[in-house]
Amino acid sequence: MSTPETAAPRTAVVTGASSGIGAATARTLAAAGYHVFCAARRVERIEELAAEIGGTAVVCDVTDAASVAALAERVGPRLDALVNNAGGAFGMRPVAEADTEEWRRMYDINVIGLMQVTRALLPALIASGAGAILNVGSTAGRTAYEGGAGYTAAKHGTKVVTETLRLELFDQPVRVMEIAPGMVRTEEFSLVRFDGDQDRADAVYAGVPEPLVAEDVADAIGWMLTRPAHVNVDELVIRPRAQAAQHKVHRVG
Ligand code: NDP
Repeated sequence: MSTPETAAPRTAVVTGASSGIGAATARTLAAAGYHVFCAARRVERIEELAAEIGGTAVVCDVTDAASVAALAERVGPRLDALVNNAGGAFGMRPVAEADTEEWRRMYDINVIGLMQVTRALLPALIASGAGAILNVGSTAGRTAYEGGAGYTAAKHGTKVVTETLRLELFDQPVRVMEIAPGMVRTEEFSLVRFDGDQDRADAVYAGVPEPLVAEDVADAIGWMLTRPAHVNVDELVIRPRAQAAQHKVHRVG
């Protein structure tokens, strides 16, 4: 017989839900029956998304402890899934010319932010009896490329925090997973990286027949989260066919 608890919809938090992979993931999870808490800093965007998918918008800066505490308060005592997607790259200077502040910001959002949100929501994930944490890493967390050290170091951090957490939670009812996408053409990722320079952002994807799009990654995240509770997809690397390896990209024209 179903109890009020088991009859309640599953819940998910998606950070960085205001654009790109996060917004697409929120839509995918809502379609799979989750009530989604859409968290990001830009209020209008998440309110619009939450209205579209019947979720809840929560303004949250993952690098700010008070903001993260307010998110946990809003979510309440029980949570089924957490997608730590908020992240990004800033700049692409070689190490010899690195901007310290850009490096700090990348570590802050991709590693410390992820930790703060995870720490705050872990009790609720455990309380669900079958929680899932899915961290959005990157192939930048697998390999090095010139000019990428600040971002690759941070995304290697995302990967290792994920592995560590899985060990620490080995006897808890919480899966810990990572998806590592390669080249995904989202509206803002490269624009943010190059500080609004649209030409440099476009050059990243120039001539690539079909880079991944946000929906491709969201589809994979949805699949990972909806496996049975005993199935932990430790890590999933996903690239466009045109990107055989980080440096080996098929471009036409
Ligand atoms: P976007 O730039 O479109 O999305 C980044 C999201 O993070 C935005 O919704 C932004 O919202 C949010 N965000 C940024 N800073 C904060 C913060 N301090 N607190 C809360 N939210 C924040 O990029 P993508 O969708 O492409 O990337 C999503 C994730 O995927 C990132 O972790 C990225 O590193 C990773 N990734 C992307 C790849 C790509 O090629 N695009 C490849 C591999 C991984 P807001 O500004 O409203 O807060």
